[in-house]
Amino acid sequence: MRAVRLTAVGKPLEEAEVALPQIGSSDVLIRVAACGICHSDEHYRAGVSRFDHLPITLGHEIAGWVEKVGTDIKHVRPRDRVCVHYLAHCGTCEFCVRGLEQFCRTVQMIGKHRDGGYAEFIKVPGRNALALPDEIPFEVGAIMMCSSATALHALSKARLKAGESVAIFGFGGLGFSALQLARALECGQVYVVEMNPVKLASAEKLGAVAIDPAKGDPVEQISDATNGKGVDVSLELIGSAKTMRQAVQCLAPLGRAALVGLTAGSVSLSPYSELINKEAEIMGVSDHLAAELPALIEFARSRKLRFPPDAVRFVDLDAEHINASLDAFQNSIDHVRTVIRVTGRGPHES
Ligand SMILES: [Zn+2]
Ligand SMILES: [Zn+2]
Repeated sequence: MRAVRLTAVGKPLEEAEVALPQIGSSDVLIRVAACGICHSDEHYRAGVSRFDHLPITLGHEIAGWVEKVGTDIKHVRPRDRVCVHYLAHCGTCEFCVRGLEQFCRTVQMIGKHRDGGYAEFIKVPGRNALALPDEIPFEVGAIMMCSSATALHALSKARLKAGESVAIFGFGGLGFSALQLARALECGQVYVVEMNPVKLASAEKLGAVAIDPAKGDPVEQISDATNGKGVDVSLELIGSAKTMRQAVQCLAPLGRAALVGLTAGSVSLSPYSELINKEAEIMGVSDHLAAELPALIEFARSRKLRFPPDAVRFVDLDAEHINASLDAFQNSIDHVRTVIRVTGRGPHES
């Protein structure tokens, strides 16, 4: 089969002809229909993360048809449409048995620690293949399994309740999903803090109150807009020490700040006024849980989570176009997600 692989960090991905994966009794072989090209993939190519072995096929945002199932697999059958949970986990360690598979002792990220979806086929553990309803196009089934899933996890970690107000710092892929999912969870007013005017305008179009940091301190703007109360939940999706501090400062009494963006910087806080006196909480958010995915899939099926057609662009499974899409992350200013459309034979025509 064809695959586009990382053979050396810092080098363009390369096309390769590789053997069709052999599945074990608990595995599923998927014929890839769509695979999202994620900003993380650009980091992997650039060498920001370490790799135990190369070459590896990148791609962790995957949807397709079941081609073949192992003898133990009962929940999906050949020809079923599926999307993929990207954390391959053991299912038996002390974290997995508690449903906290992102801390699994032997967790493997698909498309980083094991071969991913920039290929015609992918082998995944059966439990990682989830049924994808017919109403959800493959490209949406692919891209929602990364940023949308993590946005939902952030809202669930922050225990967002109906009617509660939300501040979203950063309106990229995560923020775009977070706004829609907060709505799907029947939140109150949403404030979006974003420097890019195009993104801020699109947040406003989706019904959020736009907070432009160029017009003054976002914390004060949110305070003014909420009669001095602050918000119940804030999500920091940028990965900057400055906005992390703002995400805490804008909280109402009993507010919760969920930090999702990555930074190596330090954040300083005034414990009494910003945390203790308000009984505010700060939480870290990493990846998402398999248990949250059925709700996510239902939000996409009912179109509470949607990606307008002009938000998705397609490329073929070819190294040149994929490398160009990865290059584009270095100066991306819009919402457009690029998805590899794996053409070729439909299911079971071989
Ligand atoms: Zn991703
Ligand atoms: Zn485990």
